[in-house]
Parts: sequence; C-alpha cells; structure tokens
Amino acid sequence: MAQPALLAWVLLGFCAAQPVSPRAQHSGFFRVQFGDDQFIALNDGVVNYPISRVLPAATPEAIANGISSNSITDPLAMSYNAFLIRTPTRLVLIDTGTGGKLDNDPSFHGCGHLLENLRAAGFRPEQIDEVLITHRGQDHTGGLTSLDGTRRMFPNAIVHVPKDEFSMILNAAETESYINRAHNKDFARGWIDFTTSAFAPYVRAGKLLAFEGDIEMAPGITALATHGHTPGHTSYLVESKGQTLIVMGDLVLVSGLQFHDPDLGSSFDSDPREAAEKRRRILALAAAKGYWIAGSHLPFPGLGQVHAAGNGFSFSPSASNSAPAPPR
Ligand SMILES: [Zn+2]
Repeated sequence: MAQPALLAWVLLGFCAAQPVSPRAQHSGFFRVQFGDDQFIALNDGVVNYPISRVLPAATPEAIANGISSNSITDPLAMSYNAFLIRTPTRLVLIDTGTGGKLDNDPSFHGCGHLLENLRAAGFRPEQIDEVLITHRGQDHTGGLTSLDGTRRMFPNAIVHVPKDEFSMILNAAETESYINRAHNKDFARGWIDFTTSAFAPYVRAGKLLAFEGDIEMAPGITALATHGHTPGHTSYLVESKGQTLIVMGDLVLVSGLQFHDPDLGSSFDSDPREAAEKRRRILALAAAKGYWIAGSHLPFPGLGQVHAAGNGFSFSPSASNSAPAPPR
C-alpha cells in the first residue's frame, strides 16, 4: 500500500510539503517537512466503531456508497491522532490522546500510545513547550497527566485551553449549574471529574492558561474558533513560509462519508447544525486556498488536502506508512 500512496502524493502535486525519508517513519508517527516546520502526526490508538453509531443519520445507502468509494470498512477503524509541530523555536503539541485512562471503555480500548510514539519520533515529553487543546473530549485531554492523575506528563509545557470550552471547570461557581443543565448528569459529573483531574497538576504549577478568540498561540500558530462539535471546539491554523495547514480537531469523524456530505452530523456533535456549518466553512476554506488539513480521527496519519466536489468535498490523503491495526 505504501508505494501507490507515495505515487499518488507525487501525482496529486503534494509538492510543497515533503515526507521525510520512509526509513524515518514508523507505524505510530508520520513526519512531513512543512516550510520551516516539521509536522509530526502521532497515533494514540485505533478502535473499531460501527459507522451507524458515529453517524446515526447516515442512510444504509450512504454508508454502502462511502464504503465502496472510499476504501473504508464498517465497523470503521477510527484513528486517534495528535499532532506535534516543531517550529524553529518551539515544540507545540496539539492534543494529548487518552493517556490510557479510558481503556475499560470498549470505545477506547487499545488507545494510550501517544507518548511511546512521541519518543519513537525522537522527542521527549519534557521538551514540549506548549500544549494546545482542541476541545473537551477525554481522548484529547487524558494524556496530560499520569494514570494516577498526580504528574504532569509535559512538565515544562504551558497548556492552553479554549475558555468557552472549559469555563465550567475553570470557574467553580459554574460547575454545579453545568451539571444541573446537562441531559445526562452522571456523564457530565464524570467528565468534570476526569477533566478537573487532568488539569489539576498544571493549575497547581501555574501552567494552565485559558484563551479567548482567534489569537496567535505561538509564532505561526493561530487559534480558529470552530464551535459546534463542542461549545468551544477550536482548530489551529499553522503557517510556515507560505504553506498553511488547519488542524481541525473533530470537525470530520468519518472521512469516507462526511467530506462527501458535510451536513451529515455525528452523534458526538453537541450542536449538529453549528458543527456542520463549521465543517463546511473550514473545508471550503482549505479547498479554495489549497491548505492542508489534519484531523484527529481521520485515518492515520490524518493529513491531506480537500477539493470541492459536487455539493461537498473529496479528500486526498497524504502518503502513509502502514497504519496501526485496531486491537481485537
Ligand atoms: Zn475526538
């Protein structure tokens, strides 16, 4: 599979960003040179999900079409990806995986490999300068701390979180009213406890900062509010030497169907209409400008380009080394 994919990379004109030599690749990380930056996809795990559970509104015909035209399977092998950006001056990690804390949940069984893949790519957690969080999913924040919740896994990093997403945790006065308003109060309380614990060692060390608005997080990396999947969901625009890439978090969960039909909402979208509007807006921007995109749950390494196609988009994935297999 590697050879045709590499050929497609060349034919489709991925001339600006270049994969580093295949020998420098590994099934758990994937590195491309992007202007002056190195952009490294890191895999936390791969899990099998029935498509109908992720996209309950997808018709059996749409699922069958997606399977036959996009080489996906049902159950879907859903990848959990995080992204490391090595700029000339900073090491910036976007999202942190599950930290292995959700392994009892079949939805996450087999995840928790981000740190070992970070090390395999040649980096140590102590080197990370900034951690940027896209949103509240436990598969994005769980890796901040050790399994027992006592240690910062990125001891020298400042962790930046969107204020709109986490106000009920950052401001204790909002916690109870958030739980009371929630449909599923047990789930809301469980999520509050999980996330409070993941943040606590950083709060104690004065290393957790909340931000608002589309501000620059590090030279060449800017936050981009894409609320809808969750109330404060945030993407990040990465620019170097005229090349631009959008780390779009969870805007697309099932590549084989949601590029083709961006209006197809996911059961995990807290506001499906707003999520669909942001999905369409970001994909249209990337298609019009030739930006790359990177997605948390696109097939590993989760990188590629989009093109307008009909009423939606097509996705051209980057070259890929062999993807990790889901656990059995
Ligand atoms: Zn996610």
